[in-house]
Amino acid sequence: MDAVVQHVIGGQRTGGSASRFSDVFNPATGQVARRVALGTRADVDAAVAAATAAFPGWAGTTPLARARVMFRFRELLEAHAKDMAAIITAEHGKVLSDAGGEVTRGLEVVEFACGIPDLLKGEFTDQVGRSVDSFSLRQPLGVVAGITPFNFPAMVPLWMAPVALACGNTFVLKPSERDPSASLLLAELFREAGLPDGAFNVVQGDKEAVDAILEHPGIAAVSFVGSTPIAEYIYRTGTAHGKRVQALGGAKNHMIVMPDADLEQATDALMGAGYGAAGERCMAISVAVAVGGVGDALIERLAPRVRALKVGPGTDPDAEMGPLVTRQHLDKVRGYVDTGVREGAKLVVDGRDLRLQGYEDGFYLGGCLFDDVKPAMRIYKEEIFGPVLSVVRVPQFDDALKLVNDHEYGNGTAVFTRDGDTARAFMHGVQVGMVGINVPIPVPVAYHSFGGWKRSLFGDHGVYGREGVRFYTKLKTVTSRWPTGIRAGAQYVMPTTG
Ligand code: NAD
Repeated sequence: MDAVVQHVIGGQRTGGSASRFSDVFNPATGQVARRVALGTRADVDAAVAAATAAFPGWAGTTPLARARVMFRFRELLEAHAKDMAAIITAEHGKVLSDAGGEVTRGLEVVEFACGIPDLLKGEFTDQVGRSVDSFSLRQPLGVVAGITPFNFPAMVPLWMAPVALACGNTFVLKPSERDPSASLLLAELFREAGLPDGAFNVVQGDKEAVDAILEHPGIAAVSFVGSTPIAEYIYRTGTAHGKRVQALGGAKNHMIVMPDADLEQATDALMGAGYGAAGERCMAISVAVAVGGVGDALIERLAPRVRALKVGPGTDPDAEMGPLVTRQHLDKVRGYVDTGVREGAKLVVDGRDLRLQGYEDGFYLGGCLFDDVKPAMRIYKEEIFGPVLSVVRVPQFDDALKLVNDHEYGNGTAVFTRDGDTARAFMHGVQVGMVGINVPIPVPVAYHSFGGWKRSLFGDHGVYGREGVRFYTKLKTVTSRWPTGIRAGAQYVMPTTG
């Protein structure tokens, strides 16, 4: 991996015109591993110019030709899956097996994009009027941009770019400045797969590059994934500049545990969904809602498991949980644990004093478990994005459902129960975009679509799946009559069928 992470513009690695750089850490050791160039407005201009130049040629290829590039990209990504996972672990910190899972979920979107000839098929109606036919087609938007978060440096760009490109658009990616290197391998593999230069560009950077993207007249659409305040800013600013925007935000995902649930299964689910990737997942479960008398039994099962969590560098095959991404984020998450204690929640397991021999400067936090958390507390209301699970106790299912529905976020949620009526009432009534029934992290597969409700998604479309195809294309509907058809003469009334 390079000492300075650069941009990729028009197929070339370049330092661009950056005069600012940001440190990229190895979270396992706490050391600065490299630096990343922070792109300027001029760098965004250059990337958009390259993408604009590449657009007519790429959009002019057939969907089948684009699918074949995706097939080759899929093979290359699979062949380099281990390299990609190692890059993710080195900069994000998550354990290698989890990084491998991230690559696989990204790969599945590429597989979806391989079906683009079928997905772009329009509709046709014979005889909407006498000798008049109507058909629809979907055409690419032009240059589109993706702005992505630190927690899935490969998967989230892969939620966007394969679908956008397969539809015939060209792409500018602005990755997270905290773990930027995965984007360079993506660019390399796209190029090797036969994507023309300029069709996939990477501009590294922070707010300066993001603002340049949002205001750029040459960019037709922006896909964003990140925290809610920034998602809202992206949506407002991007749409004010006439762009189509989808902006996915933060989350506070609740898992309801009913008294009739299989408690061993529910405990396993809470461990994986609460502490996997150190809680740095937008679909992590951060609130367990214990219904009826199930709270004690749940805490009794969870507490020893949280204490026994194996925390270590992501490269340690025995580690279940790696470090947090940066010292700043570690301090923020620890601060929330302090706040929870001050607010009166019961800290059953305290991971704040974890020290790892040989990794004293790494950004580690042990698993934390709170009981008796109340809805008015900040640790309940706000997204912590760390290995901190809150248990809230409520008397009945209706109270649990109300809690989920009253929360400002609506990304994911789950219910654990053996009762079909409860499961159906939950599925039907919950105001959340992605719902699990005895499934803790209900991330939709690539041929469905991913998207939350409420303040977890600004815009009308989720990502990937058919929602992705709709987002990255414009619908055109053609009504046609051939001159040999019936001649009706000039008509001055609104055309009607029949
Ligand atoms: P973030 O909002 O800090 O950053 C996301 C992107 O926005 C980055 O590329 C960053 O450079 C840019 N950015 C940051 N501050 C900016 C500013 N002031 N102006 C313009 N651009 C700015 O998010 P993060 O910390 O990288 O990622 C974690 C967040 O992402 C969590 O809130 C998590 O829930 C969310 N997330 C959501 C989903 C989802 O699908 N809903 C998926 C993954 C992550």
